[in-house]
Amino acid sequence: MRDVIVIGSGGGGPVVAKELAARGLDVLLLEAGPRNAKVEEAWSHYEDDQNNLFKGALRWGPAARAKTNWFRETPQRSYITQVAGVGGTTNHYFGNCPRSMPGVFTGYEGADRAAYDVAHLFPFTYRELVPYYQWVEHTLPVKTAPMGTKEQVFFRGCEGIGLPVQTTKDATRDAFRPQENSILQPQGNAGLTTNAALLRYPQAQGCTFCGYCYQGCKEPIRSPANLKAKRATSTSYVPMALTADLWMPGGKAVSLVANAFVTKVLTATESGQVVAKGVTWRDTETGLSYTEDAKVVVMSAGCVEDPRLWLNSGLPNPNGWVGKGLTDHALDWVIGVMPYDTNSSKGPASAARADFPGVGCVENVGLPPALQGLTASFSDSGVRGAYNVGRGETGPWTGQTGRAMGHEIKDLLSNVNRLLNVLVLTDDDVEAQNQVSLSSVFPPDEHGKIPKVEIQKRQRSARTLSNRRKLAERAALILKAAGATKVIRPDFPPLLLHMQSSMRMGSDAATSVLDANAEARWVKRLFVADNAALANACGGMNPTLTTQALATRTSEKIFQLYFGGSPWVSREAPLSSVDDRVTQAVVQRGL
Ligand SMILES: Cc1cc2nc3c(=O)[nH]c(=O)nc-3n(C[C@H](O)[C@H](O)[C@H](O)COP(=O)(O)OP(=O)(O)OC[C@H]3O[C@@H](n4cnc5c(N)ncnc54)[C@H](O)[C@@H]3O)c2cc1C
Repeated sequence: MRDVIVIGSGGGGPVVAKELAARGLDVLLLEAGPRNAKVEEAWSHYEDDQNNLFKGALRWGPAARAKTNWFRETPQRSYITQVAGVGGTTNHYFGNCPRSMPGVFTGYEGADRAAYDVAHLFPFTYRELVPYYQWVEHTLPVKTAPMGTKEQVFFRGCEGIGLPVQTTKDATRDAFRPQENSILQPQGNAGLTTNAALLRYPQAQGCTFCGYCYQGCKEPIRSPANLKAKRATSTSYVPMALTADLWMPGGKAVSLVANAFVTKVLTATESGQVVAKGVTWRDTETGLSYTEDAKVVVMSAGCVEDPRLWLNSGLPNPNGWVGKGLTDHALDWVIGVMPYDTNSSKGPASAARADFPGVGCVENVGLPPALQGLTASFSDSGVRGAYNVGRGETGPWTGQTGRAMGHEIKDLLSNVNRLLNVLVLTDDDVEAQNQVSLSSVFPPDEHGKIPKVEIQKRQRSARTLSNRRKLAERAALILKAAGATKVIRPDFPPLLLHMQSSMRMGSDAATSVLDANAEARWVKRLFVADNAALANACGGMNPTLTTQALATRTSEKIFQLYFGGSPWVSREAPLSSVDDRVTQAVVQRGL
């Protein structure tokens, strides 16, 4: 019997695995997707080869790319971006690591507290989470982002609309700032040349400004696995988990099994209480199934697969909130056409932001050409410009919202380095109708009934819709203040790349699945440690840092509640994942 089984090795799971293995527990980490041990071979800068939802390397599907991807029912126009494989969706992510807005926690006393989703706050204070934020920020590590021309342009626009600069990590006023992100600062030749021969480790270290964050960071070439620039968990927490016996006295290495799709959480009844006792998983390559017992089970399969697994396992759901309350930041996108170069396709994808507490945030995003084309034509308002179908909203953008087409998109894509994109991240409400359930229309796949993901954009709460529009307006004004000659707002359909709160924790037992320890209310010894555990949309802040801080706190709770341990975060100093001791351990183990 294992001490702990962790399901899923994306943003949250490896944090629990690493922290508990460092305390000497026997941890099994099961991952549905592949493990790309040699990312320099697996990942490329070819956009379709990597990003194609159906057959790309970074897709939701089995390791063998010739096999079909795993299907989900989405009864609305929408697009789910999730990666199966070690590192999960952090392989795609941009590494932006802001803390959540203090206003989304219990105990917030700011004058603007009524501006938040007050019915769905975190069940503890922001101050309580700060030491866990600091622990993760040191481990990843999180620093001020490497920046370039596009950030300079964004800041000019922010100053142009009168925003002040923010100098703390606590977002409590409207302000702009450089991102805090988990991308290593450039050193040596990095950032100074595009000559690939000069951008190899150790001559180059940290971010090489290649501009392909979306496609899995393999830079700098030839660096040890834990020294890749972007701190996806595949390069930070996972290497630490697999070597915990080497860098931590008394630590135990995590056992990682890839291509292991968990199909059932097993339970028993002890003294009238349902408790987790293990899992069944299916080897996606051989089709064989295995069962293993553990004292504690942690679900970290992401916002869609956690509820699916729960429901397919027949676990209790007395208040009906399993899968409900999915938040997604109601994303939108605003593109400015500039009369000068922005270098939009260069450097970390997103390194500057502006926060609007109670409303959400906007951040600049640079993209390579195919993704730039996709985002300009991904619309819920029909077509704009010369082919206008007249359905779009008007505002401080040029003409109506809508998809760019024909000459307009050709012009846009003729020089992506003259564009500046702004992503809108809405502080959206937890709403019961936005949910993950089981499909009753499509047949089950080899892992059971498939998930149905519902998010109806136009039926969202008045606060969500108003926040989204306000942010799009501010984005357009920032771009104009920076000199944009044209501003296009496509009006995205739901683009689910920030998903939160589908198995939410909360103070109110009637609208939450988890208690304040992130333990399931109706199944003891079963915890959730990924974005699904978040109580709400974090104020519109990029969610992964909060998930990882919470997962660190959850690890301590597990250690105390079920293994007689003491908390460590307030008493010890964390080790950075780029520390020489970790690098030596990674090299020694041949990762
Ligand atoms: C383009 C893009 C950019 C982003 N940028 C940022 C950013 O800058 N900052 C930020 O905070 N967030 C960002 N995000 C979001 C970020 O990627 C997620 O917040 C984070 O990955 C969520 O972690 P998770 O553990 O909840 O889910 P995931 O990372 O999706 O991990 C879930 C893991 O569980 C595995 N799994 C699923 N089901 C099973 C099963 N049944 N058995 C075993 N394993 C299973 C999956 O294969 C996956 O590896 C971005 C996302 C995208 C797509």
